[in-house]
Amino acid sequence: MFAGFKGNYIGGRFVRPKRGMELISEDPGDLLNPVGSVVVSTEAVEEAVPSARRAFAAWADYPIRKKIAAMRRLQRVLKKRLPELTTLISREAGKPVTESRRETDRLVAKVDEIVGAGLELIAPFEVAIAPGVTGECRYRPHGVLAVIGPFNFPAHTPASHIIPALLTGNTVVFKPSEYTPFTGQLLAECIHTAGFPPGVFNLVQGGGAVGLQLIKHRMVSGVLFTGSTATGQAIKEATLDAPQKCLALEMGGKNAGLVLEDAPLELAARESAVAAYSMSGQRCNATSRIIVNKKIAKPFLDLFLAAADRVKIGYSLGEDILMGPLISHEAAAKFTRYMKLAQEEGFETLRAGRTLGSWGERRGYYVTQGVHLCENPSRNSSQHYRKEEIFGPDAAIYLVRNDEEAVALNNEVSYGLVTSVFSGSRQHFERIFPKLDTGLVNWNKGTIFSTGKLPFGGTKASGSFKPTGLFSTYYCTYPVAVTRDQRPLEKRALPV
Ligand code: NAD
Repeated sequence: MFAGFKGNYIGGRFVRPKRGMELISEDPGDLLNPVGSVVVSTEAVEEAVPSARRAFAAWADYPIRKKIAAMRRLQRVLKKRLPELTTLISREAGKPVTESRRETDRLVAKVDEIVGAGLELIAPFEVAIAPGVTGECRYRPHGVLAVIGPFNFPAHTPASHIIPALLTGNTVVFKPSEYTPFTGQLLAECIHTAGFPPGVFNLVQGGGAVGLQLIKHRMVSGVLFTGSTATGQAIKEATLDAPQKCLALEMGGKNAGLVLEDAPLELAARESAVAAYSMSGQRCNATSRIIVNKKIAKPFLDLFLAAADRVKIGYSLGEDILMGPLISHEAAAKFTRYMKLAQEEGFETLRAGRTLGSWGERRGYYVTQGVHLCENPSRNSSQHYRKEEIFGPDAAIYLVRNDEEAVALNNEVSYGLVTSVFSGSRQHFERIFPKLDTGLVNWNKGTIFSTGKLPFGGTKASGSFKPTGLFSTYYCTYPVAVTRDQRPLEKRALPV
């Protein structure tokens, strides 16, 4: 066992639940060595939300320079504990350690991004309405925000909500994924050490039942969620009786790389392979479809398959691996089901994604990379393999005759998170760009690239048009229109 359970973090201290269910945090790449166990109970929500509510008014009034100072202290604590956090993420999420390191580095950078450009976006501004009448837009915090995290970026995605939420004056109750409770606990420890006032940040452990209780709580003003589209939809349905709740939903993807006739082929092949298989495809922005112009199909396929075959699988703490295990037995079973569906739904198997069950001495949910080919997309009627998010290491390659077919295929799925366009010409890219209905578009870069210096969010079933990344300060606040009229009564021409 790696970590000891400290309890939920409520009102500035860790409190162990008096009763509840035990939840084991596995290491999905080393099942005989679990990370630890926690105790979860929905009762914790009833303590955590009022604690956040009580802290709200004072925290909202806290001067911004003091909020920033607290956040800078958190940044320093995080920097000290990065190695520990990195290892923990790798063990709980099965994530290759190089990726976990990238995640924790981004966590530290997030503070700079929000303290700087993020807060600038919501700086108040004035407009002249008439002589003597001034208008002003001011941004106010919502109140208590529930932050619900996924397993695959267990530190960075919740922090992408928590950091702007706190800086803009909200208080927070965070529920990490049930697969990564100790990563959540370590974040809470860092926030505790940084010395935020009690109740400003709270943590409750648990799965869907605790999450549901939290988002439905009447004192919760908004839900900042990152996870699957199915859960996002459940959150929306569960809050229909409170339509005023602010929902920022970052959800799933079925992302495509378009390899156009004039694409730089080796670059396109290698970027696409990394984007398809990094973290075993367990990324919302993974490439799961590659749409290739028929004229360059043969050389592209050769290069892509060679790159796919070079992908290294292994235990998450190995420095040179791209693919660790899948997160759970259910995830591995789902992957196997989709590999079978690919064949049943008319795709040619170029590389079969197989379940391995162990890697060397370690038992775990290891699988190999899949590649499937569809030479005639217009004659293929696959609904499941072609349209649904698999969340495993697989790439479906579609051959098309022209750009129009490529764009139509990109847009045919219900998701709209990321599209990569591979082309040697900027003009060609600009002609394609307005036809893509995705929230992030990368030119000659794999779908997994993103930056906190820009907004991050998808269209259609991938999001709720409240992008995170740089734009997170917008959904953490609401704009108030303030009008100040300094004209004397006689200048107002009132009709009564
Ligand atoms: P998930 O939807 O299974 O779980 C996410 C969180 O929701 C967990 O904390 C879970 O306990 C909680 N939850 C489950 N049911 C709930 C309910 N009824 N009410 C409230 N909370 C509930 O997702 P996951 O498997 O942890 O993560 C993978 C998914 O997340 C993929 O679909 C991926 O594409 C998506 N994702 C999206 C982004 C993005 O920024 N768009 C980033 C990372 C992951």
